[in-house]
Amino acid sequence: MKINIGWLYPDLMNTYGDRGNIIALSYRIKKRGIKCRIIKISLKDDPNLILQSDILFMGGAQDTQQEIVNKDLIENKAIFLKRKIEEYTPGIYVCGAYQFLGKYYKTALGKIIKGLGIFDLYTESPGIDAKRLIGDLIVESKILNKKLVGFENHTGRTYLGKNVNPFSYVLKGFGNNGQDKTEGMIYKNSIGTYMHGPILPKNPEVADWIISKALEIKYKKTVKLKKLNDDLENKARDAVFSINKF
Ligand code: GLN
Repeated sequence: MKINIGWLYPDLMNTYGDRGNIIALSYRIKKRGIKCRIIKISLKDDPNLILQSDILFMGGAQDTQQEIVNKDLIENKAIFLKRKIEEYTPGIYVCGAYQFLGKYYKTALGKIIKGLGIFDLYTESPGIDAKRLIGDLIVESKILNKKLVGFENHTGRTYLGKNVNPFSYVLKGFGNNGQDKTEGMIYKNSIGTYMHGPILPKNPEVADWIISKALEIKYKKTVKLKKLNDDLENKARDAVFSINKF
Protein backbone atom coordinates (compact mmCIF):
# COMPACT_ATOMS: atom_id res chain seq x y z
CA MET A 1 0.00 0.00 0.00
CA LYS A 2 1.06 3.56 -0.63
CA ILE A 3 -0.19 6.98 0.41
CA ASN A 4 0.61 10.20 -1.45
CA ILE A 5 0.44 13.36 0.65
CA GLY A 6 -0.23 16.51 -1.36
CA TRP A 7 1.36 19.41 0.51
CA LEU A 8 -0.11 22.63 -0.83
CA TYR A 9 2.12 25.73 -0.94
CA PRO A 10 4.83 24.52 1.49
CA ASP A 11 6.91 27.63 0.73
CA LEU A 12 4.10 30.13 1.40
CA MET A 13 1.61 28.53 3.75
CA ASN A 14 3.59 27.31 6.74
CA THR A 15 3.48 29.09 10.09
CA TYR A 16 4.05 28.04 13.71
CA GLY A 17 5.49 24.66 12.80
CA ASP A 18 2.72 23.59 10.41
CA ARG A 19 5.22 21.42 8.47
CA GLY A 20 5.29 19.21 11.57
CA ASN A 21 1.95 17.86 10.32
CA ILE A 22 3.67 16.41 7.26
CA ILE A 23 6.40 14.90 9.44
CA ALA A 24 3.83 13.32 11.77
CA LEU A 25 1.70 11.94 8.94
CA SER A 26 4.62 10.42 7.01
CA TYR A 27 6.15 8.98 10.22
CA ARG A 28 2.89 7.31 11.22
CA ILE A 29 2.24 6.01 7.70
CA LYS A 30 5.72 4.48 7.36
CA LYS A 31 5.60 2.95 10.87
CA ARG A 32 2.64 0.89 9.59
CA GLY A 33 4.75 -0.47 6.74
CA ILE A 34 2.93 1.68 4.19
CA LYS A 35 4.90 3.60 1.55
CA CYS A 36 4.58 7.37 1.67
CA ARG A 37 5.33 10.00 -0.95
CA ILE A 38 5.18 13.74 -0.27
CA ILE A 39 4.14 15.81 -3.26
CA LYS A 40 4.88 19.52 -2.91
CA ILE A 41 2.41 21.62 -4.88
CA SER A 42 3.08 25.34 -5.13
CA LEU A 43 2.47 28.28 -7.49
CA LYS A 44 4.17 26.92 -10.63
CA ASP A 45 3.26 23.27 -10.14
CA ASP A 46 0.85 21.24 -12.22
CA PRO A 47 -2.58 21.21 -10.52
CA ASN A 48 -3.02 17.59 -11.69
CA LEU A 49 -0.72 16.68 -8.79
CA ILE A 50 -3.68 17.40 -6.52
CA LEU A 51 -5.54 14.50 -8.16
CA GLN A 52 -2.68 12.11 -7.30
CA SER A 53 -2.93 12.98 -3.59
CA ASP A 54 -4.57 10.62 -1.10
CA ILE A 55 -4.23 13.16 1.74
CA LEU A 56 -4.17 16.93 1.32
CA PHE A 57 -2.55 19.42 3.65
CA MET A 58 -2.26 23.21 3.64
CA GLY A 59 -0.90 25.32 6.51
CA GLY A 60 -1.47 28.87 7.65
CA ALA A 61 0.00 32.21 6.54
CA GLN A 62 -0.35 35.92 6.99
CA ASP A 63 -2.51 38.16 4.80
CA THR A 64 0.22 38.96 2.20
CA GLN A 65 0.98 35.32 1.40
CA GLN A 66 -2.72 34.54 1.57
CA GLU A 67 -3.43 36.97 -1.28
CA ILE A 68 -0.70 35.46 -3.50
CA VAL A 69 -1.84 31.92 -2.85
CA ASN A 70 -5.52 32.69 -3.14
CA LYS A 71 -5.06 34.11 -6.65
CA ASP A 72 -3.27 30.93 -7.77
CA LEU A 73 -5.81 28.70 -6.06
CA ILE A 74 -8.80 30.38 -7.67
CA GLU A 75 -7.20 30.68 -11.13
CA ASN A 76 -5.45 27.31 -11.38
CA LYS A 77 -6.23 24.81 -8.69
CA ALA A 78 -9.77 25.35 -7.35
CA ILE A 79 -11.58 22.80 -9.52
CA PHE A 80 -9.04 20.07 -8.71
CA LEU A 81 -9.17 20.75 -4.99
CA LYS A 82 -12.96 20.96 -4.96
CA ARG A 83 -13.23 17.65 -6.81
CA LYS A 84 -10.91 15.90 -4.33
CA ILE A 85 -12.67 17.32 -1.27
CA GLU A 86 -16.10 16.40 -2.65
CA GLU A 87 -14.80 12.87 -3.40
CA TYR A 88 -14.02 12.49 0.33
CA THR A 89 -10.23 12.80 0.08
CA PRO A 90 -9.14 13.41 3.67
CA GLY A 91 -7.30 16.62 4.37
CA ILE A 92 -6.40 19.13 7.00
CA TYR A 93 -6.41 22.87 6.35
CA VAL A 94 -4.96 25.13 9.03
CA CYS A 95 -5.85 28.74 9.81
CA GLY A 96 -5.27 30.81 6.63
CA ALA A 97 -5.89 27.71 4.50
CA TYR A 98 -9.09 26.96 6.39
CA GLN A 99 -10.25 30.54 5.79
CA PHE A 100 -9.62 30.25 2.01
CA LEU A 101 -11.87 27.28 1.52
CA GLY A 102 -14.83 29.22 2.87
CA LYS A 103 -16.87 31.84 1.02
CA TYR A 104 -14.67 34.85 1.75
CA TYR A 105 -12.09 36.34 4.09
CA LYS A 106 -12.32 40.03 5.02
CA THR A 107 -8.79 41.16 5.96
CA ALA A 108 -7.84 43.52 8.78
CA LEU A 109 -7.72 46.32 6.15
CA GLY A 110 -11.26 45.56 5.06
CA LYS A 111 -10.31 43.92 1.75
CA ILE A 112 -12.50 41.02 0.69
CA ILE A 113 -10.54 37.98 -0.47
CA LYS A 114 -12.90 35.66 -2.30
CA GLY A 115 -12.66 32.09 -1.06
CA LEU A 116 -13.15 28.86 -2.95
CA GLY A 117 -16.60 28.42 -1.42
CA ILE A 118 -16.10 24.70 -0.82
CA PHE A 119 -16.85 24.96 2.89
CA ASP A 120 -20.00 26.67 4.09
CA LEU A 121 -18.35 29.36 6.25
CA TYR A 122 -17.00 32.90 6.09
CA THR A 123 -14.28 34.79 7.96
CA GLU A 124 -14.00 38.44 8.91
CA SER A 125 -11.31 40.36 10.71
CA PRO A 126 -12.79 43.12 12.88
CA GLY A 127 -9.96 45.50 11.79
CA ILE A 128 -6.32 46.44 12.44
CA ASP A 129 -6.97 47.39 16.07
CA ALA A 130 -8.83 44.17 16.78
CA LYS A 131 -7.54 41.82 19.40
CA ARG A 132 -5.64 38.89 17.90
CA LEU A 133 -6.85 35.54 19.14
CA ILE A 134 -3.61 34.07 20.45
CA GLY A 135 -2.65 31.30 22.84
CA ASP A 136 -3.01 27.65 23.68
CA LEU A 137 -6.21 26.00 22.57
CA ILE A 138 -7.74 23.06 24.39
CA VAL A 139 -10.78 21.54 22.74
CA GLU A 140 -13.07 18.54 22.99
CA SER A 141 -13.54 16.63 19.78
CA LYS A 142 -16.87 14.80 19.67
CA ILE A 143 -15.86 12.78 16.59
CA LEU A 144 -12.71 11.42 18.23
CA ASN A 145 -14.11 11.59 21.78
CA LYS A 146 -10.87 13.18 22.91
CA LYS A 147 -9.43 16.39 24.32
CA LEU A 148 -7.01 17.93 21.82
CA VAL A 149 -4.41 20.70 22.14
CA GLY A 150 -3.06 23.32 19.76
CA PHE A 151 -1.88 26.90 19.45
CA GLU A 152 -3.86 29.65 17.73
CA ASN A 153 -2.88 33.06 16.36
CA HIS A 154 -5.38 34.79 14.09
CA THR A 155 -7.47 37.93 13.75
CA GLY A 156 -10.03 36.38 11.42
CA ARG A 157 -13.26 35.28 13.05
CA THR A 158 -14.88 32.34 11.30
CA TYR A 159 -18.61 31.65 11.32
CA LEU A 160 -19.94 28.26 10.21
CA GLY A 161 -22.97 27.70 7.99
CA LYS A 162 -25.30 24.74 8.35
CA ASN A 163 -23.64 22.49 5.76
CA VAL A 164 -20.54 21.96 7.90
CA ASN A 165 -20.09 20.70 11.45
CA PRO A 166 -17.74 22.05 14.13
CA PHE A 167 -14.58 19.95 14.38
CA SER A 168 -14.52 20.45 18.14
CA TYR A 169 -15.66 22.61 21.04
CA VAL A 170 -13.45 25.09 22.91
CA LEU A 171 -12.56 24.37 26.53
CA LYS A 172 -9.76 26.96 26.64
CA GLY A 173 -8.89 29.62 24.05
CA PHE A 174 -10.94 31.26 21.30
CA GLY A 175 -11.47 28.84 18.40
CA ASN A 176 -13.46 29.97 15.38
CA ASN A 177 -14.56 33.36 16.62
CA GLY A 178 -14.16 33.63 20.39
CA GLN A 179 -17.94 33.64 20.83
CA ASP A 180 -19.76 30.45 19.96
CA LYS A 181 -17.25 27.94 21.44
CA THR A 182 -16.81 26.08 18.15
CA GLU A 183 -13.33 25.25 16.81
CA GLY A 184 -12.69 24.38 13.20
CA MET A 185 -15.08 22.46 10.98
CA ILE A 186 -15.50 19.08 9.40
CA TYR A 187 -16.93 18.53 5.93
CA LYS A 188 -16.89 15.04 4.40
CA ASN A 189 -13.32 13.93 5.30
CA SER A 190 -11.81 17.42 5.43
CA ILE A 191 -10.89 19.17 8.63
CA GLY A 192 -10.45 22.93 8.89
CA THR A 193 -8.88 24.19 12.10
CA TYR A 194 -7.15 27.12 13.78
CA MET A 195 -4.83 24.71 15.59
CA HIS A 196 -1.18 25.28 14.77
CA GLY A 197 1.40 24.02 17.12
CA PRO A 198 1.48 21.86 14.97
CA ILE A 199 -1.75 19.95 15.56
CA LEU A 200 -0.93 16.40 14.39
CA PRO A 201 2.24 15.49 16.37
CA LYS A 202 0.51 16.37 19.65
CA ASN A 203 -2.80 14.80 18.69
CA PRO A 204 -1.91 11.49 17.02
CA GLU A 205 -5.57 10.37 16.98
CA VAL A 206 -6.29 13.09 14.43
CA ALA A 207 -3.36 11.97 12.27
CA ASP A 208 -4.54 8.35 12.43
CA TRP A 209 -8.12 9.36 11.61
CA ILE A 210 -6.81 11.03 8.43
CA ILE A 211 -4.59 8.05 7.52
CA SER A 212 -7.45 5.56 8.06
CA LYS A 213 -9.77 7.60 5.87
CA ALA A 214 -7.11 7.82 3.14
CA LEU A 215 -6.70 4.03 3.10
CA GLU A 216 -10.45 3.47 3.18
CA ILE A 217 -11.05 5.78 0.21
CA LYS A 218 -8.07 4.55 -1.84
CA TYR A 219 -8.33 0.80 -1.23
CA LYS A 220 -12.10 0.67 -0.62
CA LYS A 221 -11.77 -1.34 2.59
CA THR A 222 -11.33 -0.64 6.29
CA VAL A 223 -7.69 -1.02 7.30
CA LYS A 224 -7.05 -1.41 11.02
CA LEU A 225 -3.94 0.63 11.87
CA LYS A 226 -1.34 -1.00 14.09
CA LYS A 227 -1.14 0.75 17.49
CA LEU A 228 2.01 2.84 17.92
CA ASN A 229 3.81 3.84 21.08
CA ASP A 230 2.53 7.38 21.66
CA ASP A 231 4.18 8.05 25.03
CA LEU A 232 6.12 11.08 23.77
CA GLU A 233 3.12 12.50 21.94
CA ASN A 234 0.97 12.09 25.05
CA LYS A 235 3.65 13.73 27.21
CA ALA A 236 3.70 16.75 24.88
CA ARG A 237 -0.08 17.02 25.12
CA ASP A 238 -0.05 16.55 28.91
CA ALA A 239 2.48 19.41 29.17
CA VAL A 240 -0.02 21.73 27.47
CA PHE A 241 -2.79 20.51 29.78
CA SER A 242 -0.69 21.09 32.88
CA ILE A 243 0.56 24.60 31.86
CA ASN A 244 -3.09 25.51 31.38
CA LYS A 245 -4.12 23.84 34.69
CA PHE A 246 -6.28 21.19 33.06
N1 GLN B 1 -4.18 36.05 8.34
C1 GLN B 1 -5.08 35.20 9.01
C2 GLN B 1 -5.59 35.76 10.33
O1 GLN B 1 -4.84 36.40 11.06
C3 GLN B 1 -4.48 33.82 9.15
C4 GLN B 1 -3.42 33.69 10.18
C5 GLN B 1 -2.70 32.36 10.17
O2 GLN B 1 -2.85 31.53 9.25
N2 GLN B 1 -1.89 32.13 11.18
O3 GLN B 1 -6.73 35.55 10.61
